[in-house]
Amino acid sequence: MRIHHLGIAVESLATAVPLFEKLLGKAPESEENVADQKVRVAVFRLGESRLELLEGTSADSPITRFISKRGQGIHHLTLTVPNLAEALGKLENDGIHLIDREPRVGAGNERVAFLHPSSTAGVLIELIEES
Ligand code: ZN
Repeated sequence: MRIHHLGIAVESLATAVPLFEKLLGKAPESEENVADQKVRVAVFRLGESRLELLEGTSADSPITRFISKRGQGIHHLTLTVPNLAEALGKLENDGIHLIDREPRVGAGNERVAFLHPSSTAGVLIELIEES
């Protein structure tokens, strides 16, 4: 297992991308829309991990709602698992509350699923199947 990425909720990629370019000394590797999650994402690769800056693309985007409640900042932590369906089944058996009982499609067309922060110390955790 490793940290695959950290998702950071930002009001505006137009503002946040230049800031992180200065901080990290490089441009984002990619920028894409993830329609399923109503976000636009800019990805900075950092060794084995990456930072994903997330901008909501509609008023009912989870990112837009997060920012209006809690402001900009770290939104979720993503961990790799070898088999997502198996990991979800095991965690549910262990009493972890899942947001996604079935994998969904994330950035880069990868299979991801979210765990509910009420059972993970307040941290929104995303699992991603390591391909
Ligand atoms: Zn993510």
